[in-house]
Parts: sequence; C-alpha cells; structure tokens
Amino acid sequence: MSSLLLNASHNLCFKLSSSGCQWQPLPPNNTHRLSFSRVCAEKQGPIAALASAEQLVWPSPSDETPFWKRDFPSWDAGSDVPSDVVKDSDPMHIIHVTAEMAPIAKVGGLGDVVTGLARACLSRGHTVDVMLPFYECIQRQQVVDLELVSTYNSYLEGEWIPVNAYRGVVTGIPVILIEPSNQFFKGKQVYGGCYNELEAYLFFSRACLEWMQVTGIQPDIIHVHEWQTGALPLLYWDMYHHLSLKKPRIVLTIHNMEHYGECRQEQISKCGLDGSAYATVEKAVDDRTIGHNPERLSLLKGGIVYSNAVVTVSPTYLKETLCSGWLAGTLIKSRDKYFGILNGIDTTMWNPATDVFLPAQFNAHNIEGKKLCKQYVQRGLGLISEASGSGNQMPDAAPEVPLVICITRLVPQKGLHLITHAIKRIEELGGQMIILGKASDARVESEFKHLADLHNQGPSIRILLLYSEELSHMLYAAADMVLVPSIYEPCGLSQMLGMRYGAVPIVRKTGGLADTVFDVDEQSNHHEMTNGFVFEGIDEGSFNWALDRAFTYHREKPEEWTGIVRRVMECDNTWNNTAGKYIEVYNSVRVA
Ligand code: ADP
Repeated sequence: MSSLLLNASHNLCFKLSSSGCQWQPLPPNNTHRLSFSRVCAEKQGPIAALASAEQLVWPSPSDETPFWKRDFPSWDAGSDVPSDVVKDSDPMHIIHVTAEMAPIAKVGGLGDVVTGLARACLSRGHTVDVMLPFYECIQRQQVVDLELVSTYNSYLEGEWIPVNAYRGVVTGIPVILIEPSNQFFKGKQVYGGCYNELEAYLFFSRACLEWMQVTGIQPDIIHVHEWQTGALPLLYWDMYHHLSLKKPRIVLTIHNMEHYGECRQEQISKCGLDGSAYATVEKAVDDRTIGHNPERLSLLKGGIVYSNAVVTVSPTYLKETLCSGWLAGTLIKSRDKYFGILNGIDTTMWNPATDVFLPAQFNAHNIEGKKLCKQYVQRGLGLISEASGSGNQMPDAAPEVPLVICITRLVPQKGLHLITHAIKRIEELGGQMIILGKASDARVESEFKHLADLHNQGPSIRILLLYSEELSHMLYAAADMVLVPSIYEPCGLSQMLGMRYGAVPIVRKTGGLADTVFDVDEQSNHHEMTNGFVFEGIDEGSFNWALDRAFTYHREKPEEWTGIVRRVMECDNTWNNTAGKYIEVYNSVRVA
C-alpha cells in the first residue's frame, strides 16, 4: 500500500504516515491525473446511481488528488428546501450575530447550527440574516451575489474605524459580512489569527449594532451565540437602545459553557462601554475571581444577564449547567428565561439521498449506496487488502469488517484518552477505524501525529489530522459506527449526522448524547426508539462494554443490526422537529 496521496493542482503530496499527515512538495516528474469518479446521480435519484455503480472510478491512496479534494458539483441549496413546511402565522425578522457559519466559516457545531436554524426559520416564512466577520479565509466564490452595501465607522479605543458591510447569499441564506479596516479577522483560519481575538469580537459586536443603527434596520430578534457575541446585549441595552434601536430583543444561545470570554474591565471599555460598571456579581464579574487583583469579567455571564432569553443546546445540558460549573448561580437566577432546545441537522447540507460529496447516494429504504461509500473510502485510504480489486473494477472490499469513525475537534472535552484507547481496542476486535480530527493544542497534535505514524501504514487504522467538510460527509456515509466518547457534550452533532447517514452511534451518556441515543440493550427503552450503544463511565472498561456489544451485534446478529441501521436513519433529528421551539422563544420576547 502506498502512503502517498497526491494533490497535483497544488504540486503537493499528502503523506499519510511518515511525517504525521502533511502536504509536502511533489517530485517534479509527477503528472496531474485528476479523475472525477462520482456517479452523477443527483438528477436520477439513488436507485439510478446504484445501477451504474460499475462506472465508479475507484480511488487509491496513490492518486494525485486525494479523493476528498476532487471537484464536486456545487450545492443547489434552493432545490432541497423542504416545500411541505407550514409557514408561521406572524413572521418576524431575525438577525443572527455569530463567529461561525457553515460552510464558509465553520470550525465545529456552532457553524452548522447557525446555518441550519437560519434555513429552518426562512422556510417557515421568517426573514433571516446572518452577520459574521468577513474573515480573510472565507472563500469569496462560496458567497453568491456578494456586494458591498455600506461603509461606515465603528468605535475602538477612542477612534472610529472604517468598516465595510457586504451582503451575499450562502447556500440560500442571506448574510452580512462585516469587514473592519484594521487587522481584525485576518489570517488563514477562523480562529487564532495574529490579533487580539477578544478585542476583535468586542469590536465586531459593536460594529453589528452600529450597522443596524446607520442603516435603520431594526429586526425583531437579534440572536447572539457564544461568548464572542456576549457583549452585544450589554452594548444594546446600555448604549444603542438609548440611541435609535428600540425594537429588537436579544436571544443568546450557549453552545458550550467551557468558553466564557474572560476579559478585563479595560477591554470592555475599549468598545466604548464603562468596563467598571460591569464588575459586579449581578452583572459580569467572574465569581471565581472575586477578591483577586484584578478581578475578571466574563462576556458570557454578561450576555446571560443582559439577554431577554437564553437557550442552551439540549435539555440534559440545561440540567447539567444548572447543577455544576461556576455559571450555575447566574443560570439559576435566570431560570425563567433559560431554555434547553436540542440542535437539529440542516437537511439541505446533510442528506445522503442528495449529498454531492458521496460517490453513491442512499436512503433509509435502500442502503446499497452506503455499501459503495464504505468500499470507496476503504479503497481510497488503503484500508482494503492488496488482494482486493484493482483499476476500475469493483473491489473485493471487506463489508463484514466493522468500520468505526470519529470526526471531532481533538480537545480534552471529546474524551481523547478514550479515542486513543479505541484505536487499540478496535484493532483487537478486528475492525477498522478512521479518525478525522484537528487539534489546536501542539501537544495533542504531536500525540496524534505519533499515532498516525504508528498506524497509517497498517491495514486497519487511519488518523487524518486535517479539516475537510467533504471527507466528513464521505466518512459518515461509509461508517458502520460513529464514536462520540465525550467527557461532556452540550448537544453533539456528530452522532446525529452519523445516524442520518446510517452509522450507529456509540456514545457516552452525557448532555445531548443522552437526549439523542438510546441503548439497544436497555430494557426500559421502547424498542422502536433504541438506536445505539451507550456507556456511562469515563474509563476504558465502560467504553469497551459498549464497543464490544456493538461489534457483537454487527457480527452475530445481522438482521437486528440492519434494523438498528434503519432506525437510526429514520430518527428525526432535523430542525423541522425543533426550530418551532426557537420560534416560541422568539415570540415570548419580541415586541408585539
Ligand atoms: P463541537 O461543536 O463541539 O465541535 P459537534 O459534534 O456539535 O461538536 O459538531 C462538530 C461538527 O464539526 C460536525 O459537523 C463535525 O462533522 C464537524 N467536524 C469536526 N471535526 C472535523 C474535521 N476535522 N473535519 C471536518 N468536519 C469536522
């Protein structure tokens, strides 16, 4: 098996093993050989795709262009908008203010949630805009009808900084991109540029309100997300509401309480508020720093106090956050306006029957295409033995070998010790595993690089330390099982996406995982609701107990396994199910 994947369009090769997973200069004599292998089935439907499966050009690890970097047809988001959604009787204008939006600026679930919820509200008849920083890394061609709509100034440290506001459309959703003329949001990725991130998001929060003020646009709801936009409610109620913005009400969604926007009074003052005014227990002081010199503030706490309603992303995480963590006291005081609403899946972007990234499509009634996706990924990553087919023939894949995937940010929250343990255990059980992950911490990165070096040449484990939206779709489609062993998990989209693509979840019982996965062996669960394998402890034994049972079902009870796969695909974890709860929250705070 070759360890090289080649990307000739960039004259780079991708080494799977020797140096972790890195692009390196291509030897000069390599020629470009790009073969677009997808069976073009989006017009014909999944059954037609299967009829022409032999046309697939099977990928190989030695391809010049890795199979997930080939050209794909563009999303026709408009054609997939559900037409049967009932319109709400009293439409409103909602503006999301956010640091992420899928797919143009996505790091984790926040980006998916903003896009999915915005689309669900649009299809229910509301007017929705998404405001986000115009990160330098946003690919302009992904924004349709991009145009500069206003140039104005916004305040920073005694100066007025020129700002450009652009309008455009991203997968059918109207966006407003805010581009400051200073260094904020410059760099190759969404987070971690060479600027002060906290001050950049403080500036962005004010610049969004300033834009509403200069344009006279007053939505019913300004929906802010996470600590990055936690200062907006303060700026709204203590500044802009005293100027011209009267109508909007503020809803804050907390996607993850771990990040709370620690800052100093002076930093808040930089955006024009009096930072010292928020240094009280009732407002924004971080309770743990009381009596310290200096005390710290939390933008998330300030956002909770100043918003009209606060939502977190699952009912179980709501309970957990009321019982533990330093923000529990603030949340208990805010109990009347604090709600737990489960995230949904954006079915336009995540639909195995129409997904443009898949080599073959499928649905709950016909999963033949899923088998092709599994073979395609196995083949492309060299997970199939040398004896399997070559060239353009159908390979003798190993469909009976359970393929487990784990797609995640590689951070301690995600249960890193269980992910590394899983590699060993899955090998022992004779399965295959693919990890697609990105670490922000250098130590974690080097630990996983080391593991990649150890395993990526072998027959059963692939560790890919990169971010790829396209590959993530293919992996969900290829997998028999999706692993989410989080220590805590506010909601978790990975298990829901996996289920929609027919991968059975193996999860730790926490947060939103506990709200979406119900163990097949738990007697008290209603059989038709059971859809996965659940464990409770954070030790290897607890994890093995769930993984081993999943493997036993897969190998020894094929009919029951097929039933579970059907059930996971039929679970309705879409926004159709939960967007209405957000509408109720919006309605409960909006001005009539
Ligand atoms: P979190 O928001 O904590 O990162 P979620 O499970 O809610 O976790 O959402 C993670 C989202 O990010 C999913 O859409 C998942 O597929 C995606 N994702 C995570 N890591 C990667 C990666 N390396 N490449 C592509 N997509 C990824």
